[in-house]
Amino acid sequence: MSPNDTPPVCDYEGSHYRTDFWVAERAYEDAVERVALEALLPPTGARLVEIGAGYGRLVDLYHGYAQVVVLDYARSQLLQARERLGDAGPGGAPRYRYVQADFYRLPFAAGLFDTVVMVRTLHHAADAPAVLQGMSRILGPNGTLLLEFANKRNVKAILRYLLHRQAWSPFAAEPVEFAALNFDFHPRWIRRHLTAAGLRVVQTRTTSHFRLGALKRAVPTDVLVAMDRLCQPTGALWQLTPSVFHRALAPADKTPAAPDAFFRCTVCGSTLLVDEGEHLTCVDCGVQFPFQDGIYDFRGGSR
Ligand SMILES: [Zn+2]
Repeated sequence: MSPNDTPPVCDYEGSHYRTDFWVAERAYEDAVERVALEALLPPTGARLVEIGAGYGRLVDLYHGYAQVVVLDYARSQLLQARERLGDAGPGGAPRYRYVQADFYRLPFAAGLFDTVVMVRTLHHAADAPAVLQGMSRILGPNGTLLLEFANKRNVKAILRYLLHRQAWSPFAAEPVEFAALNFDFHPRWIRRHLTAAGLRVVQTRTTSHFRLGALKRAVPTDVLVAMDRLCQPTGALWQLTPSVFHRALAPADKTPAAPDAFFRCTVCGSTLLVDEGEHLTCVDCGVQFPFQDGIYDFRGGSR
């Protein structure tokens, strides 16, 4: 795929995503997402990547991994992440790598990761099946995908639809673009495309059961979080919340990445990239990918 034929990507460049969105307004959502991730995440492993990691909000949960790749499209978010986390955790593990790339062209060798995490990111994908295929490709044998997606079939959307205050049906399988580059998905549609990508859903949790402004103002956050924690396992039975987490597994017979492989050229697909200090150069096609301020930049690539 060339850079020009991928769908547009939602860019958080220069946004005050951390302070405005998370710290000020989303303490409840942050807490319940952590509960879900802690319940679903394999606690240890060699290598994990979070795609759409932003400023690294959830990265402290990955302390059991030897290497953690923090990937986002926006450079300013990665700079914040690196400023907060550095290049290695206490005692040298985990080791962090910061990668700027878009989720349609993941710059990694096939079979590289034990665990791939994506939270609050798929809802910016105009071509979600392509993103799921890409994540499946980089998972190793028995690798785990932890995927959060925005659920269009949630209680609020159902009520609005039944009261004729919302035109689109929450029961229709197709994704709905409710704002530019913001999509909600039907659980059945997501499951179908995970299966098509070769991944098997083994566990599901629902989160944000109590995402209502009035409730969040009236009830202390820790009480709402405790209630949400109790409700999350019902996700195995039905999914009516605005946010759903799946744990899905790659097949056992997949081929793992070669021991010396890591990055993959986003132009020609070669995994032969030579580290030349300020950039990586693809041996096969000659394209160079900059490495500056501790961040590998795979968005462009120039000869
Ligand atoms: Zn190349």
